[in-house]
Amino acid sequence: MSRPEHPHIPWSGPAEGPRILGINPWIFDFAAFNVWSRPVGLLACLDMLRAAGASVALVDCLDRTWEDARWPSPGKYGTGHYPKEELPLPEPLAFMDRRYSRYGLPRDMVREALAALDPAPDLVLVTSIMTYWYPGALEVLDIAAELWPDVPRVLGGTYATLCTEHARAHARADLIMQGSMELPANWASLWQRLGLPAPSLPPNAGLSLALDLYAEPHYAPILGSRGCPFTCEYCASRALYPDFTQSAPDAVFSALRAEYDRGVRDFAFYDDALLINPDRWLWPVLDRINAEDLSLRLHTPNAMHVRRLSADVCARLKRAGLHTVRLGLETTDFDHRHDVKLTRREWEDGARNLLDAGFDLDDIGVYILFGLPGQDLGNVEQAVEHVRSYGFRPHLAHYTPIPHSPLFAEAAKVSPYPLAREPLFQNNSIWPCVPGGFNWDEAKRWKLLLQGK
Ligand code: SF4
Repeated sequence: MSRPEHPHIPWSGPAEGPRILGINPWIFDFAAFNVWSRPVGLLACLDMLRAAGASVALVDCLDRTWEDARWPSPGKYGTGHYPKEELPLPEPLAFMDRRYSRYGLPRDMVREALAALDPAPDLVLVTSIMTYWYPGALEVLDIAAELWPDVPRVLGGTYATLCTEHARAHARADLIMQGSMELPANWASLWQRLGLPAPSLPPNAGLSLALDLYAEPHYAPILGSRGCPFTCEYCASRALYPDFTQSAPDAVFSALRAEYDRGVRDFAFYDDALLINPDRWLWPVLDRINAEDLSLRLHTPNAMHVRRLSADVCARLKRAGLHTVRLGLETTDFDHRHDVKLTRREWEDGARNLLDAGFDLDDIGVYILFGLPGQDLGNVEQAVEHVRSYGFRPHLAHYTPIPHSPLFAEAAKVSPYPLAREPLFQNNSIWPCVPGGFNWDEAKRWKLLLQGK
């Protein structure tokens, strides 16, 4: 499928079904880079709605979408920059000495395309990813309200789930949906807005994605599970997905194969706990990639659990085509951790197993958490040195205080900003829990440290 010309937005699914338009809003932030980004929650919703009889369409403000849209050329393995338009700083962030932008498709282009959408939607579904990107969701909802005042608007996703009261107070939405659409109460209330009885949930709801709604994709997500069985203190995975569910291998492989047959060669795992129960779906899928001799590149933008990286696991991942390896190492202070328990021995074994399996040092990046409440930044420096001593690339994962995560109350206590009241202060670019907050001198110093200078 080739990209349409602007302003065309195609509908997909039974013409007689209700028309549901899904929108992934722009990013509003100080920086943004596309690391195989896809709004998987929204894509899961559109897939289950279409399978249940709806006609669906997608406007992803973070995808090029139209042949005549100007978009930076993709970089390594399909990652890349977004177009951006600089905006005035929102009033709460006026103290920041950094540029703030809307990232993604030009606003006018999106508005014109929505205005030209024919037939018009019967319901608009807007997602939200990071809580502090909510201005993008509000802007899209405003446009939908202007264009189709009588069409119900539903806001879901992370911001809607974790900052529900804020969303109720600020979003022009008829329904703020908390949690996954496949939850029985959410499924029922969505169909109620359409004035229709709720059909049965289709099989694999929540795990099957409407990836075909993208024309000419450079990459695709793979989703084999939802949720995570662990409870790291800084993470809100449990609040977003209380259960850990895994897909069946056939479903995961068919989705991958369909994208491969469309020419996609870069695939990013979106699982939070990729290496848990790998016999359930991961090994069968990797075995089929090998058996069918697919030549592709796999990436793990979400950090993998180092303690699971046995020699066998590393060899299997390498054989199937894993290229980009991201590991999580919160700290090398192994006795005081906020994440999944990891001993020094496990870390060293995992690191060695990766190298023995033949991974390139350049493709292995290690996330080190920076800016936790009360964190001794000297430990972060040590962790950077430690990671570099293996030849791996250290990356700082800037701590984001996420509402409903176990650590949020402590973050709100130490931060000078009202984190719970205003989600814009949850932006990790302002270093919300680092004494003194973001400043350019410190940012440059850390950049040099990461480079070993
Ligand atoms: S940080 Fe990762 S491992 Fe920890 S709870 Fe969240 S998703 Fe699970």
